[in-house]
Amino acid sequence: MALYDAVVVGAGIEGSATAYNLAKNGQRTLLLEQFPLPHSRGSSHGQSRITRVAYGKDDHYANMMKEGGKLWRELERESGTSLFLNCGCLAVGTPDNPFIKGTISSLARHRVNHDVLSYKNLQNRYPMLSLPPDHVGVLDYSGGVLMADKALQAFQKMYVRYGGELRDGEKVINIIPGSDVTIITSKGQYKARKLVLTVGPWATKLLPQLGIHIPLKVVLISVLYWKEKTAGEFSSDRFPAFIHDGEDIHVYALPSLEYPGHVKVCLHVGPVTNPDSRDKADTREVITEMQQYVSKYMPSLKSTPSIIETCMYTNTPDKQFVLDHHPAWKNIIIGAGFSGHGFKLSPVVGKVLSEMVMDKSPSYDLAPCQIDRLIQPKSQL
Ligand SMILES: Cc1cc2nc3c(=O)[nH]c(=O)nc-3n(C[C@H](O)[C@H](O)[C@H](O)COP(=O)(O)OP(=O)(O)OC[C@H]3O[C@@H](n4cnc5c(N)ncnc54)[C@H](O)[C@@H]3O)c2cc1C
Repeated sequence: MALYDAVVVGAGIEGSATAYNLAKNGQRTLLLEQFPLPHSRGSSHGQSRITRVAYGKDDHYANMMKEGGKLWRELERESGTSLFLNCGCLAVGTPDNPFIKGTISSLARHRVNHDVLSYKNLQNRYPMLSLPPDHVGVLDYSGGVLMADKALQAFQKMYVRYGGELRDGEKVINIIPGSDVTIITSKGQYKARKLVLTVGPWATKLLPQLGIHIPLKVVLISVLYWKEKTAGEFSSDRFPAFIHDGEDIHVYALPSLEYPGHVKVCLHVGPVTNPDSRDKADTREVITEMQQYVSKYMPSLKSTPSIIETCMYTNTPDKQFVLDHHPAWKNIIIGAGFSGHGFKLSPVVGKVLSEMVMDKSPSYDLAPCQIDRLIQPKSQL
């Protein structure tokens, strides 16, 4: 049986970025994916994701994003694919809202070009919005939209080009830890010096098999597209990526991109689900809440969604990632709990997970992402 330097399980954005970094560094790597690629059953599919540098009090992510932007550009050059649309990212809320305050101070601290917009400015610049008069905005000019499906394909294409082996339609069903790890799949068996687990929502299934019990919560997000009443009003030259945060409001939107004349506006929360039976989750409450939101704050859109897709977040209680070694088996490395904000950071996640595989010290302080903070006796979950 061939011995790999590393086997990476899960070809979502985090696993694909990790495998790409490993192959680029000359590591003999196998990337395993349970579904035939491409697929839409995990968290990394779809055409767009918001990217921004500001991260409130979580300065470690803002630091990572400063390199993240450069790494996305590098992937664009390597793969010859355009992946980033720099249309800016607008956050709105009341001036005392911690998210707004944190965004402004983070942008200032990291010297990112931005504008703070009064209510009047917001009205003038974004007449398609109907926000409450106590709202202000902060426009991060470095933000915008990542082309998600294309980015995933670019990582996978470059991984294979750097000599990596990719096997899709092959599910990992058992892992036998040891000085070399044995990986048993639906089609065969492999041995690796190091194993990386980047299995998205399925971490709730695979980690307990390895004795790790952490309170990950998988939630189903309804990806809703709303038709413009006036064609072109939400095009990316007029409307940026958008985040509306308030006590009871956690909504984000993107300019009209993937479906002509339609705008993606979604609630940042959803019902808890099981990744193997997600279609059974009841999303009626989310859709009703979003219909009320769109009628009130985005009256330039029709108030019934025209297209409904779904995707999953895997949330940790503190919304920090898990980027760490298995507590008992140091040659098993875990990337999990990306909590609805992991796409933009994937080039850096891939870099640090690959550094752990290669026994290098990670380029960033990963203390907030240690797994110990979450480990609980099984009975408390
Ligand atoms: C609707 C939505 C909007 C989002 N918006 C943003 C945003 O604007 N900005 C941002 O930065 N982030 C955003 N995110 C978050 C981001 O997309 C996720 O954090 C990221 O995609 C997580 O990737 P992953 O690789 O961990 O998981 P996944 O993409 O789920 O990948 C895990 C992979 O592992 C495979 N797998 C699982 N078990 C096995 C097994 N046993 N054997 C083999 N393969 C296995 C799965 O099939 C899957 O392909 C959003 C997420 C959603 C759902």
